[in-house]
Amino acid sequence: MRIVFFGPPGSGKGTQAERMSKRYNLHHLSTGLLLREEINNNSELGKRIRKIVESGHLVDDEIVNEEVFSKVKGYDRFLLDGYPRNLIQAEGLDDYLEKEKKPLSGAIFITIPDAEVIERLSGRLTCSQCGFTGKQPLQNPGDECPRCGTILVERNDDRMEVIEQRLVHYYNFTKHLEKYYHDRLLNIDGMGTVDQVTLRLEEALSIWE
Ligand SMILES: [Zn+2]
Repeated sequence: MRIVFFGPPGSGKGTQAERMSKRYNLHHLSTGLLLREEINNNSELGKRIRKIVESGHLVDDEIVNEEVFSKVKGYDRFLLDGYPRNLIQAEGLDDYLEKEKKPLSGAIFITIPDAEVIERLSGRLTCSQCGFTGKQPLQNPGDECPRCGTILVERNDDRMEVIEQRLVHYYNFTKHLEKYYHDRLLNIDGMGTVDQVTLRLEEALSIWE
């Protein structure tokens, strides 16, 4: 099984990607983390990426592709999370996998209504130390994280205007990818509890097991 994984902010995509990787024994690549890791390691590629990021630009498709290909090389089973972001990357990935004779099984899109995303994300508080997320009024800004004691803050990302922007941004890039993957696409309902969504995904993904 080789899949790409999408979901709007607040859909629980990260958690579900992690669970599916464990459940189906997939090499899990989260590209946001990858690029940061590359920067931290101060590799040649990392230095190039740092320059681009510091200049306020987006890392270009060629570099992202290069990075992803180098990290999936040698793996027969993987899940890509946060990638591809556009058609150039999607086509690049298909070209690469075709050469490797390991075509992509399909694309997963977790779907969830905008109103639900806003409901889930607004008032959310995050621990910068351990990643715990709480919700007002159960937790309030300035409270200590119940797991590690760090002070909880509302991330800029979780403010209403920013949530709306993030949604617009998400649909702007995924609408093209949904078309591109139309013949190997699974839409998974993201409503309900985390465990319910996990069950839905497990069942849906079993076709590629
Ligand atoms: Zn914490």
